[in-house]
Amino acid sequence: AQPDSPAHVAILPSPGMGHLIPLAELAKRLVHQHNCSITFVIPTDGSPSKAQRSVLGSLPTTIRSVFLPPVNLSDLPEDVKIETTISLTVAREMKEPVKIPGCLPIDGGELLDPAQDRKNDAYKWLLYHTKRYRLAEGVMVNSFTDLEKGSSTGFARVPGVEGSECLKWLDDQPHGSVLFVSFGSGGTLSLDQITELALGLEMSEQRFLWVARSPNDAVSNATFFSVDSHEDPFNFLPKGFLERTKGRGLVVPSWAPQPQVLSHGSTGGFLTHCGWNSTLESVVSGVPLIVWPLYAEQKMNAWMLTQDIKVALRPKASGNGLIGREEIANVARGLMEGEEGKRVRNRMKDLKEAAARVLSTEDGSLSELARRWKNQKWN
Ligand code: UDP
Repeated sequence: AQPDSPAHVAILPSPGMGHLIPLAELAKRLVHQHNCSITFVIPTDGSPSKAQRSVLGSLPTTIRSVFLPPVNLSDLPEDVKIETTISLTVAREMKEPVKIPGCLPIDGGELLDPAQDRKNDAYKWLLYHTKRYRLAEGVMVNSFTDLEKGSSTGFARVPGVEGSECLKWLDDQPHGSVLFVSFGSGGTLSLDQITELALGLEMSEQRFLWVARSPNDAVSNATFFSVDSHEDPFNFLPKGFLERTKGRGLVVPSWAPQPQVLSHGSTGGFLTHCGWNSTLESVVSGVPLIVWPLYAEQKMNAWMLTQDIKVALRPKASGNGLIGREEIANVARGLMEGEEGKRVRNRMKDLKEAAARVLSTEDGSLSELARRWKNQKWN
């Protein structure tokens, strides 16, 4: 690019809504505040999901998206882990030319030699070198200084478009009275655990809004790629649960407009799987947490939230590995009504103010990065 011409930035989100959503927010910032143009290059294992289409469709027209040809994952073993699936989806056996923004489409076979034969040492060396992040001039971190001292970056969230039912229901609830329960874009529980959670919420006598997905006893993250629920949504809940909690609780299938739910005045707590986006969104809205980590780095986030910055309570699993209904009821009551809940809520309030300060100031690090991209001389 010429020094003053806008930079054209290619963004490659790895699969999962939790990766696409924050990058969409970054793209909007780069367009609105730094006049960049953006192309999303999106890997996929099938056609785009409803949620993906809705996020991409809500972006300004200056942000383009290109879907890479779907990767066939049907031959993977049954116990394949999510990290393997993600990596295989973004590692590309391309049949069509690779469309790299700003370049002529190029056949995979034309890419650099060492990328061609994965069994060869040269390929391993290529990976080794490209992994040495330490030599890079900088690393972008999705966080802010007061939350994590070593890194600083700005972000803002604009809520999604679905789920007006939840928001209407929240409008009718008392201020700060509702516990929002959600396990991110992919988290699911076993049938036994769902039963305990349902009965625990019922016993707690708290108001709740629960994004409840079908149980998946085999793999806890199987819906990571596709959040659309295909079955009768609530046949897995305990008998009579919906009737008994009617009015006090609302259960929604698959997806809720989480940032809007968290910033709604009626929401007073969040039982979360501790995905990083969920963590940031609750901080921005000042909503105290109950942590229930499931996979990926969520246990580390839960540890930080409970032990370090102390804005969360954590229920304990019993001997059989399940978190029991009494424990859930106690922790839910504790957060919404108890003394410990009050302390946690106050600390979260302070953190919310710190987040607001970050969001209201011009973000130096992003401006600096955009300036560098603009001035980059491409060979
Ligand atoms: N999300 C949402 N509605 C839902 C579930 C998730 O809007 O019902 C959004 C949530 O606001 C967040 C993202 O999906 O932006 C989930 O990201 P996170 O890092 O918390 O967890 P992951 O899904 O990657 O495990």
